[in-house]
Amino acid sequence: MKQKCDVLIIGQGIAGSCLAYFLLQQGIDVQIIVSPTKPNASKIAGGLMQRVSGQYLALPKLVQDHFDEAVSFYESLNLDFNCSIIKPHITHRILDDSQVKIWEKKRQLENYAGLLGQHLQPITIENTTTHHGIDMYDTYSVNTFLLLTILEDYFCQKTILHYDCVAETDLKLANDCVQIKDFEANYVIFCLGSSLTEWSLFNEFPIINSKGNIISIELDHPENRILQYDKWLIPITNNCYKFGSTYTIDPCISPTQSGYQDLISSLHFFGYQSFRPISIDSGHRCTFSDYKPSMGFLYNNPRIGIFSGFSSKGFITAPSLAKQWSLSFPNLPDPKMSINRFINH
Ligand SMILES: Cc1cc2nc3c(=O)[nH]c(=O)nc-3n(C[C@H](O)[C@H](O)[C@H](O)COP(=O)(O)OP(=O)(O)OC[C@H]3O[C@@H](n4cnc5c(N)ncnc54)[C@H](O)[C@@H]3O)c2cc1C
Repeated sequence: MKQKCDVLIIGQGIAGSCLAYFLLQQGIDVQIIVSPTKPNASKIAGGLMQRVSGQYLALPKLVQDHFDEAVSFYESLNLDFNCSIIKPHITHRILDDSQVKIWEKKRQLENYAGLLGQHLQPITIENTTTHHGIDMYDTYSVNTFLLLTILEDYFCQKTILHYDCVAETDLKLANDCVQIKDFEANYVIFCLGSSLTEWSLFNEFPIINSKGNIISIELDHPENRILQYDKWLIPITNNCYKFGSTYTIDPCISPTQSGYQDLISSLHFFGYQSFRPISIDSGHRCTFSDYKPSMGFLYNNPRIGIFSGFSSKGFITAPSLAKQWSLSFPNLPDPKMSINRFINH
């Protein structure tokens, strides 16, 4: 006898967690299956939340549209679970000469008001000044591992989280439902992150997985700021920091020696000489060819859905998109995000 539910979510990264959380809030009967062994980029991610991003100090629309909702979601979890998932930090952004020119123009623009510091200043690391840069405001760190663990416990307490690895052969389509393992659902939604590319069901979609290495370190000199150049240092707990991340196209999921060396050289460039590496991790960012997340049900299989493709901004965009979808479910809030945008009908 199969257990019935409205929505079966496969995957419990930030995408599956947020979607399950907000669907539950709408009274929808949700079950989740998560593989304990498949990659989970969300658990190792940096958790950097900034409105201004990239070397051109851009204000991406996708980020602006979803930033406030993400911050208020994490702040509500801080209160509900009496923990410190999100923390505000000023970002000290190191600028090279060409970026100083970009900053001089952008700091005067109305839409950058309150986001970029107005003064170029020395940035001192371990009592030595080797760089100049600016302050950036409205920036936060999210403790991604804590967030995912708290939501995992929350789903476990509701007895809706099940540990298992789903294979394509487990998927059985009937006229009025979808069956997977012990479940019979009206809808199944795949929140698999980079593992989407392992499924022939999703072969026709243009997905690129880019790999990132990231290290956790301890510092002798406590640092309360986020520091950023082409990489970032993010305070996580009292003396523990994440530093990352690299960018390569490499299907292998394990951290590499060259990735580690790249991170260590960058730490030296920042000015850090005395730090203790704790661990190195790596993950894949799942990106669709137009850099937008994808959601909704397959045009030829309207019980099979997807919520994925969050690229390097999953902690900014997933909470708000999940909330919006839960409010109009099963209809999509925004057709521009539909997975079917890649299909020529
Ligand atoms: C090094 C690095 C640093 C990053 N830093 C940031 C950052 O600072 N800020 C930011 O916003 N984003 C960051 N990102 C991006 C962010 O990590 C992703 O956007 C986000 O984690 C994607 O979440 P997801 O839920 O789609 O995928 P994932 O987190 O990868 O989750 C996939 C889930 O699917 C499950 N799964 C897979 N296959 C199966 C199966 N067959 N059966 C059952 N379960 C399965 C996995 O177990 C996992 O639970 C970073 C990414 C990397 C790699």
